[in-house]
Amino acid sequence: MARTTLRTACTMNCYGGCPIDVDVEDGRIVEVRGSAYFPEAQQKLCLKGLSYPQLLNSPERLKTPYIRKDGVLTPASWDEAMDLIVKRLTELRGEYGPETVMLYKGSGNLGGSTANLGMNFWYCFGGYTGRSGGLCDAAQETAINDMFGSSDYGSIAEIADAKLIILWGKNPVHTNLHSMRYIHDAIDKGAKLVVIDPRVSESSDRATLHITPKGGTDGLVAAGLIKFILARGLEDRDFIDKHVHGMPEYEEYLQSLTIGSIVRETGVRLTEFSKLCDLIAETPDFALIQGKGLQRYSNGGQTCRAIAAVAAVCGIIGKRGAGFHASTFMENPPKWPFFPPKPRDHIRETVPVAAVPLEIPKLDPPVKALWVERANPMVSAPGTNDMQRFIESLEFVVVPEAFMTETAKLADVVLPVAMFMERADLFYTYGQNYLQYRQKIVEPPEGCRSEPDIFRELAARFGFDEKYFPKNDVEILRACLAESPYALTLEDLEVAPAKLTSYRDIAWGDLKFNTPSGKIELYSEGLAARWGCDPLPKYVPPLIPKGSFQLITPHAINRINSQFVQNFWLDDAGDDALHMNRADAARLHIKTGDTVRIYNELGEMALPVKVGERVREGAVTVFSGLANLNRLMAPIVTDIGDGASFHTAAVEIERVIL
Ligand code: SF4
Repeated sequence: MARTTLRTACTMNCYGGCPIDVDVEDGRIVEVRGSAYFPEAQQKLCLKGLSYPQLLNSPERLKTPYIRKDGVLTPASWDEAMDLIVKRLTELRGEYGPETVMLYKGSGNLGGSTANLGMNFWYCFGGYTGRSGGLCDAAQETAINDMFGSSDYGSIAEIADAKLIILWGKNPVHTNLHSMRYIHDAIDKGAKLVVIDPRVSESSDRATLHITPKGGTDGLVAAGLIKFILARGLEDRDFIDKHVHGMPEYEEYLQSLTIGSIVRETGVRLTEFSKLCDLIAETPDFALIQGKGLQRYSNGGQTCRAIAAVAAVCGIIGKRGAGFHASTFMENPPKWPFFPPKPRDHIRETVPVAAVPLEIPKLDPPVKALWVERANPMVSAPGTNDMQRFIESLEFVVVPEAFMTETAKLADVVLPVAMFMERADLFYTYGQNYLQYRQKIVEPPEGCRSEPDIFRELAARFGFDEKYFPKNDVEILRACLAESPYALTLEDLEVAPAKLTSYRDIAWGDLKFNTPSGKIELYSEGLAARWGCDPLPKYVPPLIPKGSFQLITPHAINRINSQFVQNFWLDDAGDDALHMNRADAARLHIKTGDTVRIYNELGEMALPVKVGERVREGAVTVFSGLANLNRLMAPIVTDIGDGASFHTAAVEIERVIL
């Protein structure tokens, strides 16, 4: 059978946005490779991307709808499933209004234009209940947007020219493989790497200095570092005078902090602050890369602002081979020309996503139904116990899914959906600024339907105006491009992805900040008014419940949240052990290979343990995305941006005698 090669793009919630060459034989995907489409993707896929043939061809794929009958999910026909959805949604809307349906959207597939067909459906339905903020980067995005006036970001390729790189709260080996290549390039040319992370991560191997603060104290580490910088005269006064608003107030705040209290609270030694300052003195134009892990604490938004303040005080913003890197979404996504009128009076989007299970049940009119889209909140949201209680309290739950996830198992109707290589779309993501044509590569397995097709059929059954539900995906994409300000056609994107007009190699390279003061706002009254926080990035200790060990759940190399868990091909690549410090383990008579019980008042789980120096004393880590792991944490919202405070968790550990 002849092999053909087609191009598409990896659509996962990832910085990469990798273009992919896909080999197809006999209608099946047999091999994938990184494509040479754009240089930052380096013609490389990560392990997860390389596993797509196994994932898409997995025997675990759902291929028939399921309906709950007598409490048991039972295979059903598409007609039965659609009949039931129309009947129950109609009944519940009639009794409680359209807001009775909660739409819980996740980030399982990013940046698709045709996903808007779903919104068209809910607009035509008359409304819905949504949520505010996000599980991933809401605290960071809100904080940086407020401080700089936009979420500008530069090319990751710029890092290759840096002489000093500070990697703060980020593990690119697991989450942003392509930026790691540029970090290695810089080190090969003589650059020094500093990593600040409570865990000695896989990205630290070549670090000159690794600082391991107590989890959630990064904002105070940043304040302490700025105190040292000011004491040694390493700040850029000219930059501060021209481009920073609120420095006198911030300096006054810093005076209220003693070095002794900073060292005690953060666990960072004086010598470490001093050494980092030596490196900054050697290389005043350094690159500061801010990750997303540090904003998953209760104080996450102010932490992001405090770290960004280091960049502002040192004047590294907008400089080639230096700068502040905190990526965010594309500013200029394609337009959607098919929206029906928005039923504003019947859309509620005020409950932070992390608080959904606690706050949604208090709404009036009540939420009685749930539609889960590209999400698996039973594993990916904090507070699994509360989420389970919430879902089980509802009258009707629909989950379109490719696999029988933990959330799908609680549904009344499960619909088997096509995966991303099985339908066409436009694709854009964060971490780079390319628009790509995500071509359809193969037909979905028999029995699966695409989400746009599901909404088209439901719209027809509800009798909604068909002009809002165009039939042909490719024609929809053409219409989106025609409405967007890029002067691009689908044929252009077939040849190569397009770098968009909002793209700049260097973030804030023009030193223009779209804030009320026109400067970087260390002091922000607007932020304080919106979020009830201090106008300055003042440190507030993270909320950590009582317990012997702080539980930190960083991202795994073989999963993106709960995605890819169904791909057994990746099992050996992962690490599902609990990691703990040697000194803590010795006290509890625990050694590598033992099984331990991890527990608190919310739940428990058993895992093998790895003992070493990767984690600081008093903390343990388990990579996120494991079923039941998030039962050990409560659904806590961050200080700014309605983000999710995943790291607000403490546990006890005991050895299991087998
Ligand atoms: S998951 Fe990320 S790095 Fe991996 S192939 Fe997809 S876009 Fe690329």
